[in-house]
Amino acid sequence: MSAVAFHGELILPGSTLRDRYLVCESGRIAGIEAWPPRGVPVVEGRYISPGFIDLHVHGGAGADYMDGTPESVRIANRAHARHGTTTIFPTTTTGSPAEIRRMLDTCASVASRWTPRDGARIRGVHLYGPYFAEDKVGCHSKDGRRDPEAGEYEALLESGMVRIATCAAELPGAVEFYRAARNHGCLVTCGHSNASWTEMQAAFEAGVRHVDHFWCAMSSVPSVRARLGTPMQGSMEQFVLLNHEMSTEVIADGRHLAPELLHFAYRMKGTLRLCLVTDSSRALDMPPGVYRFGPEATGSVFESDGNVGFVRGNGLASSVAGMDRMVRTMLAGSGATLIDVIRMASLTPAERAGIAQETGSLEPGKRADVAVLSEALEVERVFIGGEEVTSEK
Ligand SMILES: [Zn+2]
Ligand SMILES: [Zn+2]
Repeated sequence: MSAVAFHGELILPGSTLRDRYLVCESGRIAGIEAWPPRGVPVVEGRYISPGFIDLHVHGGAGADYMDGTPESVRIANRAHARHGTTTIFPTTTTGSPAEIRRMLDTCASVASRWTPRDGARIRGVHLYGPYFAEDKVGCHSKDGRRDPEAGEYEALLESGMVRIATCAAELPGAVEFYRAARNHGCLVTCGHSNASWTEMQAAFEAGVRHVDHFWCAMSSVPSVRARLGTPMQGSMEQFVLLNHEMSTEVIADGRHLAPELLHFAYRMKGTLRLCLVTDSSRALDMPPGVYRFGPEATGSVFESDGNVGFVRGNGLASSVAGMDRMVRTMLAGSGATLIDVIRMASLTPAERAGIAQETGSLEPGKRADVAVLSEALEVERVFIGGEEVTSEK
């Protein structure tokens, strides 16, 4: 494998370096130099950023990971690579046990044969649906929701593909699910949940350290009051804000959360505990229209206006944006510096998913996963393991 160098302003954890060369050899970052290395091709860019890491993403360019075919997985991965994502965790939604199993097996097969033509690299699956609370299913198909059942999830965890595991904390069997996921080394998370503080405390003790898309499909003091009455109780919101061990994520597409909430989340959780995710659906990079969330044949119907997904009369239905837009929106709205915003799109998700030894920042020894960005933070070129990812659709 040949060497390549990147020249521009390098975005490192905690600092940037102008006019330097990031030198990569045999797919890894070899070092940072002040002068161009001899005989090595140089890629020029305004910003040299670590490739983005997406912990929560359903699809793109017309494909949903739950479609369960290698073509659809590759179509979505290529779409996200064009937006700067180099490591991706395809995310399940509600569906039948067979549909979820098929999604996992298909992602495993694509991951095992990965080439730069396939786009973003799969590092694991986010087992997200089906274990949602009935009153917090959101845009996902209610038919495919169920309580955790060891016979199903043990087999999924045994596959070794699940690296992130979500369950609503109030469901019967949630604690057992969390313990099993923790024992398999997953980032354990609570989402699509109306959990109380007490339920979150039990979840935390069983291994939960993360909450999906903050403020979306999660509990608040009023929603817990409506479920459990008075005295009013703490919710997921208070639990995450007060507990330093807990991380979370924001959908920073400018449509789900107003700038003050992005600012608030950044200030309250900080860069070590807040991740940017796309949570994008198959409508990413697609014209406005009607689409299905989840499997093409059985998924729930939603609309995209080209800026966000929604269900008429029933709120938003995920983003239709790539990680580059999340980075730009976060930078414009949250008060965070570029260094911090890039960290929340790369190193922080890598740390939370347990892969920061191999990728997530421009540090020697890590895989040469690089996004070359323009002055306006548009993605110009993307490299994974030092090899350029094709931009073909
Ligand atoms: Zn969701
Ligand atoms: Zn989602």
